Amino acid sequence: MYNFIIVGGGIVGLSTAYAIKKRNPASAILILEKESHPAAHQTGRNSGVIHSGIYYKPGSKKAELATRGSVRMIQFCKDHGIKYEQCGKVIVATNKDELPYLDILQERGIQNGLNVRKITEEELAEREPHVTGKAALYVPEAGIVSYKNVAEVLVDRLKDYGVEIGFNQYVKGIKCGETSCEVRTQNCRFKGRYIINCGGLQSDRIANETGANVQHRIVPFRGEYYEIVDERRHLVNNLIYPVPNPSFPFLGVHFTRMIDGSIHAGPNAVLSLKREGYSKYSFDFVDAWSALTYPGFWKLAGKHWREGFRELHRSLSKSQFVKSLQKLIPEIREEDLVPSNSGVRAQALNRDGSLVDDFLIKYHGRTIHVCNAPSPAATASLEIGDQIADYVMKHQSTGVAV
Ligand SMILES: Cc1cc2nc3c(=O)[nH]c(=O)nc-3n(C[C@H](O)[C@H](O)[C@H](O)COP(=O)(O)OP(=O)(O)OC[C@H]3O[C@@H](n4cnc5c(N)ncnc54)[C@H](O)[C@@H]3O)c2cc1C
Repeated sequence: MYNFIIVGGGIVGLSTAYAIKKRNPASAILILEKESHPAAHQTGRNSGVIHSGIYYKPGSKKAELATRGSVRMIQFCKDHGIKYEQCGKVIVATNKDELPYLDILQERGIQNGLNVRKITEEELAEREPHVTGKAALYVPEAGIVSYKNVAEVLVDRLKDYGVEIGFNQYVKGIKCGETSCEVRTQNCRFKGRYIINCGGLQSDRIANETGANVQHRIVPFRGEYYEIVDERRHLVNNLIYPVPNPSFPFLGVHFTRMIDGSIHAGPNAVLSLKREGYSKYSFDFVDAWSALTYPGFWKLAGKHWREGFRELHRSLSKSQFVKSLQKLIPEIREEDLVPSNSGVRAQALNRDGSLVDDFLIKYHGRTIHVCNAPSPAATASLEIGDQIADYVMKHQSTGVAV
């Protein structure tokens, strides 16, 4: 019998195991991951940015856990010899309508404790000589790392601490009783006192398997990237972001220097008809049915169909994608970009059509569910793990179900 069975070997599941083990080295922990390696989905397919926390409403979990989490992530990298860089980023308003929102972002950043500041045209030209804009913020706290690398190091540490990790273990069913739960995979059964669901794109289904009956649904939004060819890498020094559309939780296509030196442009945010579908034409009947029969989806589509079509058009047309990028760097051309990998965001959607804005963790009997952990959850992962660990330690010590 394990004390904790964690479903999902992404950065949130691994960080949760790490946090529990730090608090109670004697806990018997099993992580079940359906793929053959860690970080196979969101964790290994993201922009690799250590977010500062500037975008998030002061007081929200995202603001709190990203600001603390970025500091923790950097310390973790230092402690474990993981390559990272705190290179800072610029957020650029490219037309005058964006100026008021740039002010709001600056205010949010200050409230979230960041050293964000407006920079002059000269400083912008010094930091990013190929960018044009009306005004810009500089956020020194932002950085870059490979979260796949972080996940791999976490796996090594967890194994050192005696955590068992079962790869190729697809969790198919979970049944909970008074004192424990039974988890069924394609070929094994395991017993645990508590189950922690860190299943990312599948987390709503896993939650409902346990009877938690969550009302939201995961709607997958694919983020597609291009990579800048080597000869044009000089167009970008570090991280260059536009002012995001305040009605969406996505940041708008931007330029990212990855920790391996490559420069990525993107990601967009296109509805995906397959939860783990990484090509433009990926389709899965069950996933598509799940999204299209959910009332929240149609309410969201009713409100934002124009943006949805715009995103789809930009996904199918490279020239449209480049047009968006040219707002930031007018010199960028279609021939400078080659298609790169993509990732799919697990975004929770409410029945009323509203996107769940903040991180969401639900506690239900002997089960805990990370229901909404999109960006910046990789940055915040060590803090998310701590929150869950604190909760379960408290409840475990009183001997009652969580
Ligand atoms: C395009 C994109 C860009 C992003 N950029 C950033 C960024 O720059 N900075 C940042 O902080 N965040 C970023 N994010 C968000 C970040 O990647 C995620 O918030 C984070 O990785 C979530 O981690 P996770 O462990 O919850 O999910 P995942 O990494 O998706 O892990 C979930 C795991 O659960 C496993 N699983 C699912 N179902 C089962 C089952 N039934 N049985 C067994 N295993 C199962 C999956 O195989 C998977 O490995 C980005 C995300 C995307 C998609």
